[in-house]
Amino acid sequence: MVKIAVTAESADEARVSISPDTVKKLVALGCEVYVETGAGMRSRFSDDQLKQQGATIVQTATEALSGADVLLKVRRPSTEEFSSLKTGAVVAAMVAPHDDRTGLEAAAKSGASIFSMEFMPRITRAQSMDVLSSQANLAGYKAVVDAASMFDQAMPMMMTAAGTVPAAKTFIMGVGVAGLQAIATARRLGSIVTATDVRPATKEQVQSLGAKFIAIEDEEFKQAQTAAGYAKPMSEAYQKKQAELVANHIKNQDVVITTALIPGRPAPRLISRAMVESMKPGAVIIDLAAERGGNCELTKAGEIVDHGGVRIAGPLNLPGTVPVNASSLYAKNLLTFLQLMIDKDGAGLKIDWEDEIIKGTLVARDGAIVHPALAPKEG
Ligand code: NAD
Repeated sequence: MVKIAVTAESADEARVSISPDTVKKLVALGCEVYVETGAGMRSRFSDDQLKQQGATIVQTATEALSGADVLLKVRRPSTEEFSSLKTGAVVAAMVAPHDDRTGLEAAAKSGASIFSMEFMPRITRAQSMDVLSSQANLAGYKAVVDAASMFDQAMPMMMTAAGTVPAAKTFIMGVGVAGLQAIATARRLGSIVTATDVRPATKEQVQSLGAKFIAIEDEEFKQAQTAAGYAKPMSEAYQKKQAELVANHIKNQDVVITTALIPGRPAPRLISRAMVESMKPGAVIIDLAAERGGNCELTKAGEIVDHGGVRIAGPLNLPGTVPVNASSLYAKNLLTFLQLMIDKDGAGLKIDWEDEIIKGTLVARDGAIVHPALAPKEG
């Protein structure tokens, strides 16, 4: 029988790697699920609820980990957790593989097979395992809700006997998964929404959500999407034209949500200090790229900066502020991923090391870091 362990996350992480729903499904697959007491509490999954679905609640992380075949986590497990695992155990988590290389090497030495959910290939078959999408969607939603609550005015237009309240103007920069949900949420709140991106495919998506698309649509823009569906870094000439367009537009905006990212690079700088200074006091910028250096020059990761009355927030873990949904979706992503590995009768793990999804997410195996994206750089 496959033994699955779930331990509590650190104090700054409210999400958890299972839900009552996924416990039930894992048990139905023939697995045993051991959960450290209280691990689901911050996602409102009580020990009792998990127990009702078939989980075994244990008092300590060590008890959960002892003899486990699989450890499911949100963040990278601690050194102690890795050392409590048996050799060859499977670990699936958002391990932030580019961070803390020394820690990752030590984790690899435990002999665990470590899977990084952030490396999930963006192919149709893996869509239901795509943690970046499931979490970015919630981040896009929450960014707008937080902006609306920080904003000193109402979002929708209201025509009342005492006068008219104008609709807020919201500008979304970067229209990937988070940006699309931000557009939809801002529209639902009654805001007038504009959006920009460098990938031509986003134009129609923006318009279909009832927002206005603005961008420099030159020859470079037409080629700006990679085969994998991501944005390319843009040339200096393009960035200059884009900055002029943004400068003209942003000064009239009330709320700006930035989500622009380029894989493996620092976030593109889209909002300069001068642009912030052109905005009205009371305007709000939420920079979802804060962790990767920020899309705004004045962003400070994890803080809210007030610059002449314009507030710039650089939240670090927005999905973690809607933990009930974020955990449910993340747990579902993990369940679908695990189903690839669990033998049909639940008797054991049967991993096809050649599977594109397994290969794409496997960071470490047999004591060494094995993912090509983590190979030491030459020279
Ligand atoms: P992301 O987080 O890498 O980037 C966010 C957005 O920022 C992207 O739309 C990008 O084009 C944009 N951006 C980058 N540089 C910019 C700049 N200088 N100015 C303005 N915008 C800029 O993107 P994501 O949300 O991960 O989505 C990327 C793509 O992957 C999309 O096409 C999405 O539809 C696709 N996708 C596919 C799957 C799948 O098939 N399984 C799953 C999820 C996403």
